Amino acid sequence: MFYLPLFHRFDGRECLVIGGGQTALRKLRWLLRTDAQIKVVAPEILPEIVELANSEKLQIEQKAFYPEALHPDLALVICATNAEGVSEEAYAIASQRRQWINCVDRTDLCTVIFPAIIDRWPILVAVSSMGQSPTLARTVRGWLELRLPLALGRLAELAGRLRDVTKQKLQDVDARKGFWDRVFSGPAATAAMANDFAKAEAIALAEMEGASENGRIVLVGAGPGDADLITLRGLRAIQTADVLLYDKLANPELLNYARRDVELIYVGKQGPREQGAGKALESSAEQQQQINALMLEHASAGRAVVRLKGGDPYIFGRGGEEQEIAQLANVELQVIPGVTAAMGAASYCGIPLTHRGLSQSVSFTTGHKVQHSNEDDWQGFARADQTLVIYMGLVGLETILGHLMTAGRDGATPAALVENATLPEQREVFAPLNELAAITASRGITGPSIIIVGEVVALAPAYANASRVAEGSEPQS
Ligand code: SAH
Repeated sequence: MFYLPLFHRFDGRECLVIGGGQTALRKLRWLLRTDAQIKVVAPEILPEIVELANSEKLQIEQKAFYPEALHPDLALVICATNAEGVSEEAYAIASQRRQWINCVDRTDLCTVIFPAIIDRWPILVAVSSMGQSPTLARTVRGWLELRLPLALGRLAELAGRLRDVTKQKLQDVDARKGFWDRVFSGPAATAAMANDFAKAEAIALAEMEGASENGRIVLVGAGPGDADLITLRGLRAIQTADVLLYDKLANPELLNYARRDVELIYVGKQGPREQGAGKALESSAEQQQQINALMLEHASAGRAVVRLKGGDPYIFGRGGEEQEIAQLANVELQVIPGVTAAMGAASYCGIPLTHRGLSQSVSFTTGHKVQHSNEDDWQGFARADQTLVIYMGLVGLETILGHLMTAGRDGATPAALVENATLPEQREVFAPLNELAAITASRGITGPSIIIVGEVVALAPAYANASRVAEGSEPQS
């Protein structure tokens, strides 16, 4: 059953609570914060509840539940009693009249259910498991409690103080949104939560002067695949983006964190890819120019532009080029690092990229450039005491590994190719360097793949098994 989360206003309407124990008390504490008129009916009533009855909003009737107590004008009925048959009886009456009713701990007798609530007034977070496991909902609430600053409500106060001047000074809706995003995620928010409203307002007003002119570009490293591998800061940048440019390497799940009114722009066909070196590269350069133009256009209109990139923006991600372009146009650009594919693949396979006694350094290179280059270029990568990671090396795999061996790297060196690293569909090929290309070809691998070469690969728990299989049987084609 899907229950719709709504926040309710009573406007003085009546609400009946059946029961006078601890459970009833907990519900009453919430109800009393509304403007409902509340009546409690129960044969026994806790003194705490009696005390609450001093307020004008709450009346007490000390007797056992009787059907007439449930009169037709009630906006809500809460049944918080174990008394035999009472919940069933109340539910029968209320549901027949289509009155909202909640029988505590009896999901079968509820037309509304209570969420687990995190209270940072006026920010309220309601967590529900749709009645399936209130305990799980409470556990989730516990996780969220830790993430939400206690003084969160002060941000609402800051917003209240700045509302008028913001409307006056920032006429454009987008500029206003960008301004609030910056205020809520920046130093003004920190000052407000520390109860220093004078400082918070000063920072925000200074921000406002700049906000009307230029937006900003944030290059966010989305990590190699698994959405959980993004950084907290990267996630916050996504949450505050006005415009979000993404491609096929970034996990689409991450888009769910963006605001509902974000402008999503798919720029997927561009960029480094496994197949089609020559022609694709040309069009990719063209598309890169289009992306640059888009980012500048939106940023210059005062928007917060987030460019979500697979892995890390500065590793084969054109982050440097985009930075230069932003600099030329005098647009602020920030880079948030990400877990690059090499690191994702290594961790998920158990390959330490450096290891005492085996590898003192690690190099990241690209298969695109070196495929057709001469052997001299490979001398540096052929040394035995280092790890080599090759991006975009699937298409020219045989040539690349051939160059490496000609340059002196031992054909028996342990090597791995990892496709779709960190994703559920991750596949690995483990083999000595001189067999890796043939075995990879036999497996029909076409997805984004990373190649790791070096003695450290043999430390991967799966390496020993995989290489035994490779020795014992001819690769299938
Ligand atoms: N900036 C990215 C790299 C982009 S270049 C980063 O830091 O990871 C694109 C290449 O990265 C692909 O051709 C592939 O070699 C590699 N790659 C990206 N994601 C990958 C993944 N999940 N598994 C294996 N290789 C990946």
